[in-house]
Amino acid sequence: MVSFVGAGPGAKDLITVRGQRLLQDADIIIYAGSLVNPALLEYAKKDCEIYNSAEMTLEQVIGVIRRGAARERKIVRLHTGDPCLYGAVREQMDALDRLGIEYEVCPGVSSFCGAAASLKAEYTLPGLTQTVIITRAEGRTAVPQTECLEALAAHGAAMVLFLSAGLLQTVQERLLLGAYTADTPCAIVYKATWEDEKIVRGRLCELAELAEKNGIRKTALIVVGDFLGSDYELSRLYAADFSTEFREASV
Ligand code: SAH
Repeated sequence: MVSFVGAGPGAKDLITVRGQRLLQDADIIIYAGSLVNPALLEYAKKDCEIYNSAEMTLEQVIGVIRRGAARERKIVRLHTGDPCLYGAVREQMDALDRLGIEYEVCPGVSSFCGAAASLKAEYTLPGLTQTVIITRAEGRTAVPQTECLEALAAHGAAMVLFLSAGLLQTVQERLLLGAYTADTPCAIVYKATWEDEKIVRGRLCELAELAEKNGIRKTALIVVGDFLGSDYELSRLYAADFSTEFREASV
């Protein structure tokens, strides 16, 4: 069996219980060495074969899985955060389908959740926004024109940018063409939940400068939106005059 496992955002104990068990049982682990905390490999058995996919091509990864599956080994493909975001897992799953190799997916805590925890923030605040936009700036990977940053910024929703820390001058300029203003709060979260995590808070008009000053060019999330500010409305769910399936209104 092959298991695609979400490693969580960084801290060794933020993998799921199921993910940890799969790591402990694995005969072969292929981990995304550019972002997965190597401390997670301490869960592996002594004789587990370990490969770093940062140094491998898709073909080589599939080759290791194919040979391991032929020997009936338990294989873990360990991805950072949750595999469903910028994980390049679909192409691996399709290759395994073609080879008739079975697999499962074990979710993980995405870094955008880790970053919110570190910021002690809630993305969806009543009266402000009920939407989180997860996106990236266009770099070597193209982004469809309909999803360009200025178009997404028109919503003024909470926004989380992955894979964009090296492109912040253009990110800042494009976001300012939408509904955000120079004063819209933003934060750069470097290595959320790792021991050397760093959080920089500021305003959108100084985003690029803040990253530059703090020497942050990668392994960071950019979060933007009024949810980082102090104004919002209380939720209806816990309001005293609001009845739900579980609680009668008390006033
Ligand atoms: N699947 C992953 C994302 C992989 S893409 C997830 O769910 O989190 C890689 C990008 O994720 C990095 O460039 C960075 O923008 C972000 N990232 C991953 N881990 C991070 C962390 N601990 N802190 C901040 N950003 C992180």
